[in-house]
Amino acid sequence: MGSGTKQPQILPVKSPAVPTTMQPQAAVSKETAWLRAQFANFYRSSVPVPSDLQRREFGFGINKKIEFRHKGFRDQGELQRYLVEEAPLFMSFSAARYRDPAGRPMERKGFLGSDLIFDLDKVYSGEPGHPAEEHHPVACAYCLNRSKQDALRLCDEFLFSDLGFSKNDAFLNFSGSKGFHVHIESDSVQQLSQDARRQLADFIGANELSSESFLSATFGEESIRKVGFHGPKKGEIGWKGRIHAFVRKRVAEISEGEVRAPPFELRGKDVIELHERRAELLDAVDRGLYAAFKSLEKITPALITQALQHYRVELDKQVTLDTGRLIRLQGSIHGDTGFLAKKLLWAQAASFEPLRDALAFPKLTETVAIVPSVSGSIVLGGQVMEYNEGTRQDAPMALAVLLVAKKKAVLAL
Ligand SMILES: [Zn+2]
Repeated sequence: MGSGTKQPQILPVKSPAVPTTMQPQAAVSKETAWLRAQFANFYRSSVPVPSDLQRREFGFGINKKIEFRHKGFRDQGELQRYLVEEAPLFMSFSAARYRDPAGRPMERKGFLGSDLIFDLDKVYSGEPGHPAEEHHPVACAYCLNRSKQDALRLCDEFLFSDLGFSKNDAFLNFSGSKGFHVHIESDSVQQLSQDARRQLADFIGANELSSESFLSATFGEESIRKVGFHGPKKGEIGWKGRIHAFVRKRVAEISEGEVRAPPFELRGKDVIELHERRAELLDAVDRGLYAAFKSLEKITPALITQALQHYRVELDKQVTLDTGRLIRLQGSIHGDTGFLAKKLLWAQAASFEPLRDALAFPKLTETVAIVPSVSGSIVLGGQVMEYNEGTRQDAPMALAVLLVAKKKAVLAL
C-alpha cells in the first residue's frame, strides 16, 4: 500500500478469513511480475468504474479471482491509485450496494440493495457442431460466440418478453475469459429477496420444469383422450408459447426414420397416422389437444423435454441468488487472458467479438519475446497469430499476454 493511498475504514475482527491487503509473495515468477507491470500500466490511463462506486465492495487477487476482499473506495482516483500501486491480476466487485462496503463481517456492511446478475455457465465444447477436438484450448471464438448468443437470448426471450424489463434495464458484461454475465441495475430489482432471485434463475434455467409441468396429471389415461387435452396452445406466451412453437415445428418436419428411433419409438399404425394425418395433428397442437391422436400423444412428452433443453439458458444459480458474491468488474483486465471485461449495451452486443474487441493490449506492432510451451494459431484483433512450442518468437503484446497469463509461454527477456 503506497503512502498516497487512503486506507478505507475496516471494522476490527478477531481473525479475518480473507485478508484485505496483498500478502508478500513467497516466490513471484518473472512472468507474474511482468503481467502485473503491464496491467498497472493499463490502469494508469483507464479505470474500471462501476455505478455507485463508493457503495460497492471490491475483491482482488494475483493468483486467483479473490485472494482479498472487503475493500471499499471513496472515489475513482483512490481506486486508480490502488490498481496502479498494487497491480492485481484479478478484480471483482459486489452486485450489492452497502452503507459501509469495507465493513466486516458481512452483516456489518449494511446491505442497501443488489443488482440482479445472471452468470452463463454452459460448456459448449463437445456440443453438436463443435466437437471437442475443434475447441480452441487457449481462447475459443466458437464457444465465446455461443455464450454471447445465449446471453442475448436470455435478455430477449426471458427478461424483455416474459418479464417485461426494458432494453435500457439490462446490459451484458463479457467476463474477459469464457463467457458473459447479464446485469440489471434498475431500482425494481434492488430489494428482491434471495428466494425471488432463485425463482428467476430457475425459470430461465427451466430447473424445476419437465414435460409433466405442461401436461395434465391424467395425460395418457383413456378418460382424458375422449374429452381431449388442453396443453400449451397457439398464442400463449412464456414457456408455454416456446413449447407450443417447438412441438409444432417438430411435428411439421419430423421424418419417419426419426419417429421410429429413440426417444419416440413409434411403430405400425402410429407411424402411418403421423405421416398421413400430419395437417390434422398440427391443428390439434395449435388447439392444445395433445391427446387427440395416439401418435401425437406418444411423442409429446419427449418433444416437450427437447423444447426445455433447447430453450433453457444454463446459469450458475449461486451468482444470481447470493448477493454477497463478488463478480467481474466491467473495464477490468482478466488475469487468465489479458482480455478486458466489457460492458455492452443491448445495441452493441450483437456485433461484439471478444477476440477482436476486448483486447487490453491491442497494438499489433508492439511485440515481446516469448517461448511458448504449446503450438497453435489464433486470430486476435483480426490477425492470424501462430506460436510454436519451444521456439523463441517476437509476439504481438495481445498474444504474449494471453499465452503468459495462460501459463502457456515464458518470457525470453
Ligand atoms: Zn470451443
